[in-house]
Amino acid sequence: MGKIREINVSELVPPIREACGTMAVQYSCDILEAMRRGREAEENERARSVLDLLLENAGIAERERIPICQDTGMIIAFARIGQDVHFSGGSFTEAVCEGVRQGYREYYLRASVVDDPLYDRINTRDNTPAVIHTEITEGDGVEITLMAKGFGSENKSAVAMLTPADGEQGIVDFVVDTVRKAGPNACPPLIIGVGIGGTFESCALLSKKALLRSLNESNPDARYAALEDRLLQEVNATGIGPQGLRGKTTALKVQIEQMPTHIAGMPCAVNICCHVCRHAKVVL
Ligand code: SF4
Repeated sequence: MGKIREINVSELVPPIREACGTMAVQYSCDILEAMRRGREAEENERARSVLDLLLENAGIAERERIPICQDTGMIIAFARIGQDVHFSGGSFTEAVCEGVRQGYREYYLRASVVDDPLYDRINTRDNTPAVIHTEITEGDGVEITLMAKGFGSENKSAVAMLTPADGEQGIVDFVVDTVRKAGPNACPPLIIGVGIGGTFESCALLSKKALLRSLNESNPDARYAALEDRLLQEVNATGIGPQGLRGKTTALKVQIEQMPTHIAGMPCAVNICCHVCRHAKVVL
C-alpha cells in the first residue's frame, strides 16, 4: 500500500478562488481559435459581424479583467481524488465552496445560485453551493476541474432514453432537434456535449464532461469522431447562426463521450454550452 498523503483542505481554497476569477474573464485558446476560424469561414455578413463583436468582447474582458458575460454561471467541480489521499482540517465539500465563495466575492462576479429551486428561491449571495462530482482514482493526486456553467444554455439541454434500434440516426435526430429547440436562447455559437450510453444519470454526466475536452481534440474512437463531424455539419446546416441571427456557425464543436450500457438501451444526453465555455483545472 502506498504512503498516505495528508492534505489540509484549506490548501484547496486559494487555487479555486483564483480559478473562478480567471475563468470569468478569459476564454481558453481553443475556443478563441474556433471562433476565429468560424469568423473566417462565415459567408453571412451579419454572422461575421456578430463573431467580430464576440471576439472584441473577449479582448476587452481579458484586458480589463471584467466578466465575458453577465451570467457568471454555477460552479460544477469534477474532483478526481487519489485513494492514497487523506483530507484533514475540515470538510472537503465546504473547502471547495469556500474557494467559490471567495472567488465570486473578491472578483465581483454575479452570484447566481438560489437556496431552494421551487419555493423560496433566495439568492445565497456568494454563488454557493457548487455542484461537486467526485471520482476515486489510484495514487495520491488531487485534480479538480471547475466549470462555470451559464444557464441560458443549460436550460436547453436534454436527455433521451433511446433504444438500440434508434441507431446513429436516432442520435443525430435528437441532437439536431435539441439544438433547433434551443434556437437563439442558448447564445450560439455553441459547444455541444453529447453523452451516449450508461444510464439515465450517467449519460447526462458524460455529456457535461464532454464539454471539458479541448476543441482541438476529437473522440479517440474513429467512429465517434466521424459522428462528431457529422453532427457538427448537421447542426450548422440548421442556419441558426451566431446569436440566432442566421449563418452557418451555430456550433463550434460537437464532443461525444461514450460508455458501456444495458442491452436494452441507448441513453443519450445533450448538454448545450454557449461559446462562454469556462473551465479550469486545479491540481494539488
Ligand atoms: S448562455 Fe452563455 S452567453 Fe448566454 S447569458 Fe448564459 S453564460 Fe452568457
